[in-house]
Amino acid sequence: MPKDGRKLRSSVFVTNNKATPLSPIESTSKYFSSKTSDTETNVPSNSPNPVKRKIARKHIKHIVIETEESSTDTTNISNALTSKKLIDKLEKRLDKELPKPPVNWGVVYAAIKEFRQNIIAPVDTMGCERLADEPSDIITPQTSRFQSLVALMLSSQTKDQVTAAAIQNLRQKLLGGLNLDSILQAEEKFLDECISKVGFHRKKAKYLKQVAKVCKEEYDNDIPDTVEGLMKLPGVGPKMAYLCMQVAWKQNQGIGVDVHVHRISNRLGWCKTEKVGPENTRQSLESWLPRSLWREINPIFVGFGQTTCLPRYPKCSSCPVSDMCPSANL
Ligand code: SF4
Repeated sequence: MPKDGRKLRSSVFVTNNKATPLSPIESTSKYFSSKTSDTETNVPSNSPNPVKRKIARKHIKHIVIETEESSTDTTNISNALTSKKLIDKLEKRLDKELPKPPVNWGVVYAAIKEFRQNIIAPVDTMGCERLADEPSDIITPQTSRFQSLVALMLSSQTKDQVTAAAIQNLRQKLLGGLNLDSILQAEEKFLDECISKVGFHRKKAKYLKQVAKVCKEEYDNDIPDTVEGLMKLPGVGPKMAYLCMQVAWKQNQGIGVDVHVHRISNRLGWCKTEKVGPENTRQSLESWLPRSLWREINPIFVGFGQTTCLPRYPKCSSCPVSDMCPSANL
């Protein structure tokens, strides 16, 4: 706070993700202004009371720095300069912190999306969102949602074809089909045999039993309807939780980032999270990717990763974005 005890205020406006401080002239003139407008009220600078102004602008977020003080012009100028420095500092910080979408991301995304429309990938026919039965006269919405959750749990570290076969096995071999009660009634060993081809099948058989019990006892025979609730279930991580919200509850609460989305986003230079993991990729993408794309990016990138941008030896020569990809010809 300045020594003479005056009150000064400076604002940095943040509109459309861009920080715009008041210009020095604007800032100073606003400060010295004695007029009153619709949007702000100025107290004269020689007022005995501390100056207090409120700027309320519709659709504009602003950061306000206040210092308290009196009335001389010299002090005003001094404080205005101090405030300008603070604005510059804040602007730099905001520039650093506000997410910036990657250059050309829209062109790249559109090209990959178009490319995907002409190739069929395993995810298009056997992805988790296609494995559950649709609700019908004999399949309740609860059972349909439970099947989606089971498919997602089996899918980690497992190819779509293998997950689809395991779900089919459960459907055929469990008494009464694949539902919460049939999982509860089955022996863990039997479940393990039914899903023996999927990765970490022993652990997953155990998790299936535990999840069915929790869903029955705590969620009235249904699955949790929040990301947090889903992530509390044994064996369910963020990727599964966000995809489950999309597939089972038709709610778009976050991007389902699996190994393909994680790898491709990093290869395209859209984030630098290769070493830290998919959860960081999700947060990075969600900071700038339009929410309307959060659901579709998963199947688009998964299929692209299964057919073209392979984990090893990506097919850059036939990739539609090779001229824009910083990792082309790895
Ligand atoms: S150019 Fe190669 S590395 Fe880049 S997205 Fe295409 S296939 Fe993947």
